[in-house]
Amino acid sequence: MSDRAHQRRWVDQTDFPGWASARARAESASAYRVHAIARDQRLRLHRFRLALIGYCFFYGVTGYLWWDGQLDLDWIEFLSLVLGGVFLNAVFGGMILSGKNLALRDPSMTGLQTLGVVVIALVLAWTSGTLVSQDAAAMALVVGLLFGMFRLDARQLAVLAGVGFAGFAVIALLHGARLGLNGHESVVRLVIVGGTLTWTTVFASYVGQLRKRLGSRNSELKIALATLEKLAKYDGLTGIYNRREIFMQLEEALEEGLRLGTSVSISLFDLDSFKDVNDVYGHSIGDEALREFVRRVKNTARSLDRLGRVAEGAGFGRYGGEEFLLVMPMTQLEGAHDAAERIREAVSGTPFLLDGKEIQVTVSQGIAEAGPSERTDHLLARADRALYQAKRDGRDCVRVAEPAEDDPGIAREGPGFFNPDPN
Ligand code: GH3
Ligand code: MG
Ligand code: MG
Repeated sequence: MSDRAHQRRWVDQTDFPGWASARARAESASAYRVHAIARDQRLRLHRFRLALIGYCFFYGVTGYLWWDGQLDLDWIEFLSLVLGGVFLNAVFGGMILSGKNLALRDPSMTGLQTLGVVVIALVLAWTSGTLVSQDAAAMALVVGLLFGMFRLDARQLAVLAGVGFAGFAVIALLHGARLGLNGHESVVRLVIVGGTLTWTTVFASYVGQLRKRLGSRNSELKIALATLEKLAKYDGLTGIYNRREIFMQLEEALEEGLRLGTSVSISLFDLDSFKDVNDVYGHSIGDEALREFVRRVKNTARSLDRLGRVAEGAGFGRYGGEEFLLVMPMTQLEGAHDAAERIREAVSGTPFLLDGKEIQVTVSQGIAEAGPSERTDHLLARADRALYQAKRDGRDCVRVAEPAEDDPGIAREGPGFFNPDPN
């Protein structure tokens, strides 16, 4: 699987909580891709710099050989060879810096760069007037192939090595006598160069395979890490936040509310007479009922989100067995009451259809708005008392917690504002 396919799988497998909007999901996925692309480009630039150092060394040696009269090149030809190398590097560097390489099938352009080195090495070999300068060309072929291990597979490396060696062999055999070698020496020399290139190709493709395997291990580890994070955060049965995570969400929401001076409300749910559902229909239908309940809450909350009634970023988690907690940032008690009522209707309005049976499920809720700097446990205790009141009032209803003691704003409204006396 390609690196990119791995990234996509990693992103797709990372589920998002509650009813996080498609936009949030897409933003997170594209942020990951942008980050990965920037990282890959940095790596390519680094490799390019390494190659540039290699070129400088190579041209240093070539320049000396030319100056020493070991190359059959007049100064115009020599200048063309130098400018050819400068041009190639300017194109590769420019492509990476401008990001144009990203449109290519191989954005690292390793194949092209290696081919460039092979061609320059063969030009050097062809123009060599001495054994030393022709051997320098053979060395350049070896270094070029080693560079190819960053990206090329065994077949591509073998093709480039084959082209390089075939070109070198023809040149070496044609020029052998001129360079003072007899036939026997020419063949031995070719065996040495051919063996070295073969060994380099095998080594480079082996390292390339290791690199690939390391890359896919890395992606697997990322997926495993994302799965672990998911397991640590989400409830296995319903897929929403687990108790620990919804607590953290609540704490974060309270901190943010305090910082921004905005309201935070919660609703604590307990399914009514759920023991009976288990007793009558069995535990697995009970589990299904919990899942269906979560689906209905999420759907309702999503539509409220669209209506701007419950702020995006609201969190829903499993607080206990059949007890759930909805955290609504930037929501006042009135909005929370509205949301809670809609959820209540969504649950009790239509019987659950589970395993071909219609099962009437209802839920009781206790809602509370956090007072300024109210502690999490205090807020939850108030919501819990309101929930208890809802149970006492006959279930399938929403009750509002008594106001936080330190909140004069809510206290002024007086208890019972949303909580009409049932009698
Ligand atoms: P009440 O209206 O007073 O809440 O009555 P209740 O029967 O729901 O009572 P209570 O809340 O005390 O009981 C919770 C029941 O929920 C007990 C347990 O069998 C059931 N329950 C808790 N977790 C699960 C679960 O994961 N799956 C199933 N099927 N049932 C569960
Ligand atoms: Mg309970
Ligand atoms: Mg219950």
